Order: sequence, then structure tokens, then C-alpha cells
Amino acid sequence: MATQNQQICMVARPQGLPKLTDFKAATAPMTVPGEGEVLVRTIYLSLDPYMRGRMSEAKSYVSATGIGDMMPGGVVGEVAVSNTAGLAVGDFVEGYLGWQTHATVKADHLRKIDPTLAPISTAVGVLGMPGLTAYFGLLEVASAKAGDTVVVTAAAGAVGAVVGQIAKLKDCRVVGIAGSDEKVDYITGELRFDAGINYKTTDDLDVALRAACPDGIDVHFDNVGGPIADAIMRRLNPFARVAICGVISQYNATADEPAPHIYRHILVNRVRVQGFIVFDFAARHAEAYAALGQWVSNGDIKHKEHIVVGLENAPQAFMGLFDGQNFGKLLVRVGDDPTR
Ligand code: NDP
Repeated sequence: MATQNQQICMVARPQGLPKLTDFKAATAPMTVPGEGEVLVRTIYLSLDPYMRGRMSEAKSYVSATGIGDMMPGGVVGEVAVSNTAGLAVGDFVEGYLGWQTHATVKADHLRKIDPTLAPISTAVGVLGMPGLTAYFGLLEVASAKAGDTVVVTAAAGAVGAVVGQIAKLKDCRVVGIAGSDEKVDYITGELRFDAGINYKTTDDLDVALRAACPDGIDVHFDNVGGPIADAIMRRLNPFARVAICGVISQYNATADEPAPHIYRHILVNRVRVQGFIVFDFAARHAEAYAALGQWVSNGDIKHKEHIVVGLENAPQAFMGLFDGQNFGKLLVRVGDDPTR
């Protein structure tokens, strides 16, 4: 077994889009697990847009990563050394362990994964944080119900693809907005969304939305914010619900952009707009894991992964989230996956 732990740290706060020089590889000795702890070998590191927020000092719902600190992140790994009765060597676990090859961590900070249910990587994807986000954002925050027209942005991504598929299972009309023809073909073909719009090639998003949503929009699951969200706002029906999940178009902004004033649309249509964070529903995660697990094992929800190999390639892959280079849940394979 390796004795040195490889990490990737943030060495500068990005101004705008992150650059490779904002990150640096570091080495730290591995620590021996104390009582109640395990040493986890990282197999998959999840790369997620929220990490851009952690790199910034702007006010948020959690504190910023310090300069020189390891980048934070969700991990699926294998227990390499155990000093607790609850986990054995060879067990697969998921936890918030950061951009590193190994982590010594208390066992009660980990979720044990059953590798017979689904590929272990899904524990940071459709059967992990992004799946939970889709589930609670759509069904609780946006109160989606049969007959609603649901529009979801970043629709081929980790969260968006699950949102659209749950909405289809709930008998909604689903329209996805994504950044390439390949992604639009995927959501309308394999995932059976009713319509898709490539926002990068559409001349007029208002016209495209009118065609795709002839009866208006009842639910907007917003992953991107910015001008796309503004256009969707103009097509909302009375009593529509907007779940603000993410605003990825703004994460690298260095100044506030001028935007349309949306209050009038909210008022005249009596729209409910609510931001949310997946952890708001922590007390109910078990319910969502059960529902998502059932849908995945039945084949009702499909998932796609975009896997980059090697921890050293994490910064470049992370940067690609901001121009749509990932097609599916973005993961880094840091170590061998014995289940594949
Ligand atoms: P994705 O897998 O969807 O990857 C991000 C995608 O965003 C890219 O592939 C790209 O797709 C799209 N994108 C990037 N820049 C822009 C832009 N300027 N305008 C429009 N689209 C853009 O990521 P996730 O599914 O993990 O996350 C989606 C959103 O959900 C993010 O905003 C994230 O912060 C948020 N989120 C919120 C959570 C919460 O608790 N509130 C929890 C998890 C995620 P394309 O090619 O289509 O442009």
C-alpha cells in the first residue's frame, strides 16, 4: 500500500474562471486510524459546480476553503484499514473526503454502500447528492404534479437529467435546455423528455420556449440562472413554482450583470420562487435514497457518467464544468475500482 497521500490544494482564489495555477498538488504522510476511524482509499472523486463557491470568499451557506487548503469534495472509496467494528477492510463507503488519494476519517462520517445495488460511483451521482437534489427540488420545493409543464436547465447534467426523468415518472411534460445537439438528442431520445432546446444555437430563446411549451410553464427547475432563466420567467403560468437550485452561469462572474426586473412577472402570475440547498432535507434523505434506488434498479431512471482518470487531472476537468465539457455526472477515477 502507498504510504504517501496525494492531495490537490487551492493556492489562489480564482478571479473569474478558475485556472490551473489556482491549484497545486501536495503530498502528506498517511495517518494511522485511531479508535473509531478508518483509512479510506479514494476510488472516485466527484467534481461539482458548488466547489467554485467554496473557492470564493463571498457570503454563502458554508465557509470558504482557505488558501493552501485541500479542495473539498465527495468521494467513493474502499476501506483500506479499519479501527472500528462497524466497517471492515474492503467495504465501500461514501463521504466528504476531499481531493486526495487517501483519508483517515471517523467511521460515522461515512455512508456504507452496497455494491450489489448499482455501480459504486452512483453514490456521488444519481444515488447521491445530485440525485437527492433533483428529488427534493422537484417534488418538494417545486411541488411538481401530473400535467405540469416542467422546464429544467443544464438538463443533461448530473442533477438536470434526474429532474427530467422524475418529472416524466410523475406524468409531467418535460422540456430540457442544454448546450449541445448531442445533449439535446440524449435527453429527448434516451431519457424521453418531451422536447429539448440547445441554448447555444437557438437564435431566439423566447420563440423556442413558446414552441416547446405551448401551454406555458408551471415548474422551472433552475440550474443556471442568467439570461436563460430570464427567458423562462417570461413564459411562466399563473401559480408557477420556481426552484432555484443553482446559478452556474454566475459562478465565475466578477461583477453583477444588469438583469431584467422580474418582480412584475412574479406578482402578476403569483409565482412561488424558492432557493434551496440539498442539506435542507437531511432528515428525509433515506426516503429519497429508497425511491431513487428503486427507480434506478427498475431502469426507470438512467444515468450517464463522464469519467476522467487521475487525480492530477481534476483541476482541468473541474474547469470544464463551466463550459459544458462534461456530458453526465463528472467524476475522477483516482484509484482502481475493483467492482468494474
Ligand atoms: P452538471 O453535471 O449539470 O454540469 C454543469 C453543466 O452546467 C455543464 O455541463 C453545462 O451544461 C452547464 N453550464 C455551464 N455553464 C453554463 C452557463 N453559463 N449557462 C448555462 N449552462 C451552463 O452539474 P450538476 O448537475 O452537478 O449541477 C447543476 C446545478 O445544480 C449547478 O448550478 C449546481 O451548483 C447546482 N446544485 C445545487 C445543489 C443544491 O443543493 N442547491 C446541489 C447540487 C447541485 P451545458 O452543456 O448544457 O451548458
